[in-house]
Amino acid sequence: MRYCVKLFLFLLLISVSVNAQDKKQIIKDIFKEATENSQLEKLAYEITDLIGPRLVGTPQMQKAHDWAVATYKKWGIPAQNEQWGEWRGWERGITHIDLISPRVVSLEGMQLAWSPATKGGAITGGLIIIPDMANSTAFQTWLPQAQGKFVLISMQQPTGRPDDNWKEYATPESYEKMNREMEKAAKEWNERLSKTGYDRQTLPQALEKAGAAGILMSNWSGGFGVNKIFSAYTKEIPTLDISLEDYGMLYRMVEHGDNPQIKVLAESKELGKVPAFNTIAAMKGTEKPEEYVVLSAHFDSWDGGTGATDNATGTIVMMEAMRILKEIYPNPKRTIIAGHWGSEEQGLNGSRAFVEDHPEIVENIQAVFNQDNGTGRVVNLSGQGFLHASQYLGKWLSAVPEDITQHIETNFPGIPGTGGSDYASFVAVGVPAFSLSSLSWAYGTYTWHTNRDTYDKIVFDDVRSNAILTAILTYMASEDPERTSREKTVLPVDPATGEPRAWPSQRPLVREGGLD
Ligand SMILES: [Zn+2]
Repeated sequence: MRYCVKLFLFLLLISVSVNAQDKKQIIKDIFKEATENSQLEKLAYEITDLIGPRLVGTPQMQKAHDWAVATYKKWGIPAQNEQWGEWRGWERGITHIDLISPRVVSLEGMQLAWSPATKGGAITGGLIIIPDMANSTAFQTWLPQAQGKFVLISMQQPTGRPDDNWKEYATPESYEKMNREMEKAAKEWNERLSKTGYDRQTLPQALEKAGAAGILMSNWSGGFGVNKIFSAYTKEIPTLDISLEDYGMLYRMVEHGDNPQIKVLAESKELGKVPAFNTIAAMKGTEKPEEYVVLSAHFDSWDGGTGATDNATGTIVMMEAMRILKEIYPNPKRTIIAGHWGSEEQGLNGSRAFVEDHPEIVENIQAVFNQDNGTGRVVNLSGQGFLHASQYLGKWLSAVPEDITQHIETNFPGIPGTGGSDYASFVAVGVPAFSLSSLSWAYGTYTWHTNRDTYDKIVFDDVRSNAILTAILTYMASEDPERTSREKTVLPVDPATGEPRAWPSQRPLVREGGLD
């Protein structure tokens, strides 16, 4: 009997150490596959340059979904597009804006998303600036002057140089002076707009109603050459964003009475109601197929650039991690899912729909790993308010090479995220979902929702590191002998109520968007 126990312990020891050996080898192999056979550059090229931006409701979004399914199939991973809603269909066409008087030059600008086209080809017209009127009644008497004109609704920026450039080169006095000027100009412009009696959404519509030819704006992002491009509010006339440089020039010409004329061609197509999808890929678990590890990244983007760092990088991290796992760990213990969500940009719609539509999966998720905020290497990992996250995440992280983990600051148990990206859709229903949070690389100024969010901004070494991190965390989460705890921490007291803050709640999504 005693002999038997000894033998059993001996065998157990061997199997534990063999397991540890296997684990080490698998992690080595993941690293090797990611570094020696990386597909990241190819995937990035295809999704950004070739397919282009992925605005919900556009043919490019659909093309991207089909591309992702085909790419997974090529790797031997089953994938499909799951419809969760419908959206206003629209396709961006050519935008061409030229100054034709007092001199001729092509201007840098583009239609906003869902902007109406110019009717019957190019339109030529003069310019007018939103005036500084005493109040909304006075503005109403001014409105007819917008008839037939392109109306400038943004302020003229006092400088086209970013703050850090001023800080580096200006004298302290002139730096301070410029800061004051910027503040004053912004404040005065906001007052001017509010005195019209309209807001950002209703002002373009009032101008449209008054017979304006188009709306000109410049949503400068605070860096050299960057504007943020969102959606238009007009229904009949085009809304155009113009670069800071060209917008400032037009503005000064109007102010000086030089009567600039521009010619605008804006082509776009309304495509009615189109279906909206998530792409879901899955590698079935062998031992616990009803339990899930979810790789998560939104698939859609705004369309000023090609959505390279928001969120092609998160997308290709998850695709590459899936590809590597299929090569190295083809028979996972738990089922591994990649969720490429649609319409995150309009309110986490795709992931919220998935949570609503798949309670049987959501109940049995071991962990969600989401990546969104840019191209940088992961530097931050919060426990999102899950009391025991430090135990399991800590254990999984310990398997990741130090070259990668040395950059990562952890925050346990942390506070649950209420929005910002798709992990919040899962956290809201108590699923351990984590954000692989990136180093900034000037994301907020230069790439987030800008016209410069393009392939060349991708930092492939960092993205590769993130793919390795994701693949190893997924492998560890899948192999963990234990289910993760969903126990929540007691949140800090809300000073307003004196009670602990409430856990974020599941919010409704938009299943039919942009249609009114
Ligand atoms: Zn994003």
